[in-house]
Amino acid sequence: MSVVKFFAFILLSLSANTWAWSGMIREGGVSGGGGNVINPQMPTSTVDPEEAEHIVKASAVYTQIFFAHAKAQFANGEASSEILPVYKKLFSGPRDLDTVLQNVRPHVRESGPCYDYNMQPVDASVAGSLPNRFCVSAFALSRKVQADQIPVQAAALMAHEYTEIMGLDEDEAVMIQKQALQDLQIVNLPPLSVHDCGDSN
Ligand SMILES: [Zn+2]
Repeated sequence: MSVVKFFAFILLSLSANTWAWSGMIREGGVSGGGGNVINPQMPTSTVDPEEAEHIVKASAVYTQIFFAHAKAQFANGEASSEILPVYKKLFSGPRDLDTVLQNVRPHVRESGPCYDYNMQPVDASVAGSLPNRFCVSAFALSRKVQADQIPVQAAALMAHEYTEIMGLDEDEAVMIQKQALQDLQIVNLPPLSVHDCGDSN
């Protein structure tokens, strides 16, 4: 193991531990193909799940924006040393992320949670019988997340699921989700066209 690799490994281990200690791993990290929102701001009033469904579907655009931003940062050598090994797997691995983004779409559930491979309820999951679909629960998001935060939380959650579909592990998916939460606060986001839902079911 080279010094650089070893250092990156230490950084990864440290950050993973930090999340575990802060209790965030419970909220964000669930093994078994699922994912949950991380540090949501609890809603003061809940959004109607059907409205949340439209918002979540439209938020897939933000997931694409995050990945494009991340890919550019990776290409320009601007990624942090912490996230770099994960970007390397995502953007220069054997599978093409853009193809996956084009072909695999969220199946947004209006009622009930999604379920992971262990049949545990989660906010989103790649476990399911629909081909080229992963589950996102608009119902869960509407109950856990402040309305104005649903788009960014949903987009980050979907980035988590795409990362798992790309073959990366749970810790890496949580790192991507956290990076997306962070980046999507900074980058310029176009307003969501919530009625332009398309038919992603
Ligand atoms: Zn996961």
